[in-house]
Amino acid sequence: MFRPAGSRAAASAAFFVALAAGIACQREDASVPARDLDGRPNAVVLVTIDTVRADHTSLGGYDKPTTPFLGALARDGVNFTRTYATSSFTPLSMASLVTGAEAVTLGLGDAYFDAQSQTAVQPVLSESFTTLAETLQAHGFLTIGAASNRHLAADLGFAQGFDHYYESAAFQRASALNRIAKSLLKDALGDAYATAWRQQPLFLWVHYFDPHDPYYRRPGWPLPGQPAPDPRRIRQLAGKSYGDLERELEDPAPETLEALRSLYDGEIHDTDQRFQELWEHLGFDDDTLVIFTSDHGEEFLEHGGLGHAKGLYEEVVRVPLMIRWPAKLPRGRVVHATASILDVYPTLAELLDLAAPEGLSGRSLVPLFDTPDWPSPRPILLELDRQKEDWLAWVEGDHKVIRRVQPDPWVGSFDLAADPGETRNLADVEPDRTAAALAGLAAARAALPSPPAGQRYLDISDEQTIDALKAMGYVVE
Ligand SMILES: [Zn+2]
Repeated sequence: MFRPAGSRAAASAAFFVALAAGIACQREDASVPARDLDGRPNAVVLVTIDTVRADHTSLGGYDKPTTPFLGALARDGVNFTRTYATSSFTPLSMASLVTGAEAVTLGLGDAYFDAQSQTAVQPVLSESFTTLAETLQAHGFLTIGAASNRHLAADLGFAQGFDHYYESAAFQRASALNRIAKSLLKDALGDAYATAWRQQPLFLWVHYFDPHDPYYRRPGWPLPGQPAPDPRRIRQLAGKSYGDLERELEDPAPETLEALRSLYDGEIHDTDQRFQELWEHLGFDDDTLVIFTSDHGEEFLEHGGLGHAKGLYEEVVRVPLMIRWPAKLPRGRVVHATASILDVYPTLAELLDLAAPEGLSGRSLVPLFDTPDWPSPRPILLELDRQKEDWLAWVEGDHKVIRRVQPDPWVGSFDLAADPGETRNLADVEPDRTAAALAGLAAARAALPSPPAGQRYLDISDEQTIDALKAMGYVVE
């Protein structure tokens, strides 16, 4: 049975004692005095990796060892095998993760990229939200954020609550992001940061970008002894944008698709290894609470396209989710009940006894540490809102309805148990069930708070960003 952390008063007293000790002592490893954790973790580490579909990870049962380190962490923690992002587009789902608000209530719609005018405009996350980092900061955590994605930059509202945040937020490789995270820790804690972080509660968010396209060849992948795709096909596909790949893959040979998937898997594997380096460098341990998830998945022609942010099928919205804190949480627990990245915030609030803002849309996952399923049905609302792409979806148990508002209005209705690949649209076969699900979706949306007033947009059309967005295929031609 899980027991919550000690009282806030006791924790903050311990924090000030620890802080005083920290000022006096910034020496190496063994000499760092153990802080009285009072039932709390020594650090909360949120690791998000862009574009990781659940079924391409060891946590999601993939038959290739893409995530040996994160998989090992998951085996020591709680692995949620049926987790949804709130969207298939980074700004929406990551904003949901850090605010606990459904994508439809964020006011972050209509991101706009245009090749002809070379403009990229993105909405800014409103300051009216109390972010997870703000809540942790208010409870005495040192908050450090390193997000390698232009869509998560400080000027787009994602630095709220962070004492130190990677300001320029260009797209960076994982090894560079590790250096950035270390340098932010050094700014906060001095040269001995690799041990000094233990002297106060730490919240560290790292967001890696590498599995996002273009996919580059990783020399260590496939691992020795694993089947390797034809190297000529790998050379032909590596580093290409979605646009170029779509032309190459108009009528792909199975080996070509396999090579593309292998490139993508290599990026996931490399990022897993880079995160392991950071973890070991900082000496995180069984008193560290770590959460791993992603912002969305990735399509490999399952529904005729490549990439993400173009629909709400399972391959682009199902993500891994793992929570590990061996000092307090069950080890080796696998939960198949439906979860959402929205649940991270309320779960941390309960685990850490935080005064979280009212009205978080997710549910604390803590009850699932002891029971196999929710006591009441837990539907999932999904939204994709970009210029020229407007989709909604609703998942209730094994039934999913997808409503494409634009382009080309369309409704899809799928039985995920019988047809997990969403290949048989039952909208005309089961009109009553489809109508009931659409009504459920509409009612759920209507019950949510309105997005904040006065949505602000930022022009992010610098040359580097435009080039990167074009290479990634986001630009609307
Ligand atoms: Zn993303």
